[in-house]
Amino acid sequence: MRLSTKGLIVKENNFSDDRLVVALTPDRGLIKAFVRGARRLKNRNASSTGLLCYSDLTFFKYKDTYTLDEASVIEVFFELRSDIEKLSLAQYFCELALSLAPEEAEAEEFLRVVLNALSFLSNGKRDKRLIKAVTELRLLSISGYMPDIVACAGCSEYEQDEMFFDTVSAKIFCPKCKPETPLIPVNRGVLFAMRHIIYSDINKLFMFSLSDQSLKILASVTEKYLLAQTERIYNTLDFYHSIVKE
Ligand SMILES: [Zn+2]
Repeated sequence: MRLSTKGLIVKENNFSDDRLVVALTPDRGLIKAFVRGARRLKNRNASSTGLLCYSDLTFFKYKDTYTLDEASVIEVFFELRSDIEKLSLAQYFCELALSLAPEEAEAEEFLRVVLNALSFLSNGKRDKRLIKAVTELRLLSISGYMPDIVACAGCSEYEQDEMFFDTVSAKIFCPKCKPETPLIPVNRGVLFAMRHIIYSDINKLFMFSLSDQSLKILASVTEKYLLAQTERIYNTLDFYHSIVKE
């Protein structure tokens, strides 16, 4: 069966002449496929199946195995390769996609979030911490880890100057109802940003700003929430932190 779609290459493994890639596609989520002879210089698919290429892809599917027949580049995020900080974040977004996106299921919003994140990372129009926080929290929200932060879990209070987020129960509490467990204090700006990331239309997802102080808190909250909920290690995230001092 032949299948034509678009996809972002989120993983590539090279061995001898061949390449194994994982593409994030809008209609079938993650697709793992072989690219025969991809490393031969003259192979026309070589440059369109590298990591972070967004390409038109044509697969051949036999039983459960996909082979990539044709690929032509729509966008290659070249600018990312000249900045190690940006590149490491881009690779982290790929690892998030690999760990959270579905297989053999629709993943259009997932793909759009990651592509938008890569665009903003490339053009430098948004703070890197904002891009990272938005990507983490929105991807978590669309993969079954949406926190319940509409109102205090105890008394339904909508907002206060300071509220408290529980990364384990995924709930928010006002100062009166806050349990005696370690929670993260969030101010109005951070809470507004978290609600925006979860509920906003995807076209407006990255369109907000925060003070430097609040951005630091937001970045820390979304990362702690990701680690608490998914209970795993992200090598690309550890690498990012090893080169960035924030
Ligand atoms: Zn309360």
